[in-house]
Amino acid sequence: MAPLPGHGSRARTRAAQPAGAGTDAENAAPPKREWVLPPPPGPTLQQRVEKRERELGLRCSDVSCGLGPTDDDPEPALDVDVTKIPQVGIHRLGNNEQDVCDHRFHLACLVSAERVAGWGDKDVGENGEVEVSCPVCRAVGCVTKQEWDEGVAALA
Ligand SMILES: [Zn+2]
Ligand SMILES: [Zn+2]
Repeated sequence: MAPLPGHGSRARTRAAQPAGAGTDAENAAPPKREWVLPPPPGPTLQQRVEKRERELGLRCSDVSCGLGPTDDDPEPALDVDVTKIPQVGIHRLGNNEQDVCDHRFHLACLVSAERVAGWGDKDVGENGEVEVSCPVCRAVGCVTKQEWDEGVAALA
């Protein structure tokens, strides 16, 4: 059986709709837009952010600096001014006035990084030096026993 011609259109024009009730809903529907995946944030941006944070003193040279902002915890330690936490370089063995590299670390970050690297249990040298390896460039040097203990205490 063929559908009755014209029935549908007659029904549509006959319907009395209150003004503004959206009788043109079909026409008003927005055209489907093609969904384009936004480009993922590259490591470059992340690196730029971390570099900036280092310049501000929010983060030390440690790649996993626990004191700077992280994705999980963008504003850690609100009661602590991270920029005021001292950072130390890794000293030349036997000469604490010179550093073996330009990297500087929060003591807690350094102790933490040394532990991860398997340098955790330290023998204190005769001069009160604790041998460490730079977590960034692997240069071997030392920190003073006092600095090491400060880092250990800060982690506790
Ligand atoms: Zn740090
Ligand atoms: Zn270094």
